[in-house]
Amino acid sequence: MVQGNQMKPTSSVLSLHGRQRPVVIAGPCSAESRTQVLETANLLATSGKVSFFRAGLWKPRTRPNAFEGLGERALPWLMEAQKATGLTAMTEVATPEHVEAVLRSGMKAIWIGARTTVSPFAVQALAEALQGTDLLVMVKNPMHADLKLWMGAIERVARTTKGEVCALHRGFSSYGTSEFRNAPMWEIPIALRAEMPDIPMFCDPSHITGNPDKLRDVSQRAMNLGMEGLMIESHLEPSQALSDAEQQVTPDNLHQMLDHLEIPVTHHVSHSDREDLEGLRLQIDSVDEQLMQMLHKRMDLARSIGALKQKNKWSLLSVARWREIIRSRTEWAQHHGLNTEFLGKVLGSVHEESIRVQGDEADRKRSEKPKKNQS
Ligand code: PEP
Ligand code: MN
Repeated sequence: MVQGNQMKPTSSVLSLHGRQRPVVIAGPCSAESRTQVLETANLLATSGKVSFFRAGLWKPRTRPNAFEGLGERALPWLMEAQKATGLTAMTEVATPEHVEAVLRSGMKAIWIGARTTVSPFAVQALAEALQGTDLLVMVKNPMHADLKLWMGAIERVARTTKGEVCALHRGFSSYGTSEFRNAPMWEIPIALRAEMPDIPMFCDPSHITGNPDKLRDVSQRAMNLGMEGLMIESHLEPSQALSDAEQQVTPDNLHQMLDHLEIPVTHHVSHSDREDLEGLRLQIDSVDEQLMQMLHKRMDLARSIGALKQKNKWSLLSVARWREIIRSRTEWAQHHGLNTEFLGKVLGSVHEESIRVQGDEADRKRSEKPKKNQS
């Protein structure tokens, strides 16, 4: 018997209470055809490790002309998959009309996407459409790193619905290169849990990583932090997916990944010192990642300065500028309560590296010139 059936609640109101961790939500980014929906749900149900079946119907795409989902006409396929497999079907809603369609279909669980959570107007409209209903609602974090906005969205929904409201961590978008599609910034879900300890927390490693490589790592971290469950995108043929093709995994690969997860015992209310240590380490990881991005940005700027200096034959080292850097940064360090001797060492190394990078760029530009003249 599959776990999805074992965990099926007896009442019609869905509850996560007492479920075995991790509660797994899996399914394709988008519903693409009836066959795809039914076959994927069937395969996902076989392991007994998946409880919810996800598929997007109305897809919020960054740019127009991409596949925007099949809309309401695919809703009956999700309900058919639920009936056939015992997995609870769920989809993303972004407008009151979506909520009405979902309610008409008898679906019991939904999520609010990251692009919707950013707008209190949109969330309020959804909360009003959900008034008095008992759907299970998962609220994804907003696109950008704003804890209060996430909390506000959860509060708005929890005020109107009678169903369970959960938080769903999918990472935060940042401009420029990063090792993640959406930086996890673990300190934010950790802070949300501290502020709202009764709200179950899920993690969506698919949208955090943007590819399958670190899926297991991020899922494991979410488990170490005591999160309740995972939402993972799974497609029969990931490379052929109409949306988020790079990050989906086959049901088989998903099951293998779940088999390898270690699930530490957690006590939702009183956290152990071990969990606290893990939480603090994840915050350090997140801060270090941001430090690396900042250093990368600084060296890029140094490279542009190197090119300008070479073009104008200005000297690489400006003593007046260096003095000004030391003076202003020492003031900033004092303001932030940092040891000024430590800061001096850090700045010294960063400056030395900046000069080296500027010099390399200047040399590169100089060596480009003769080639241009020859042509
Ligand atoms: C999704 O779950 O397919 C989705 C669009 O997610 P997000 O809102 O996290 O971008
Ligand atoms: Mn997706």
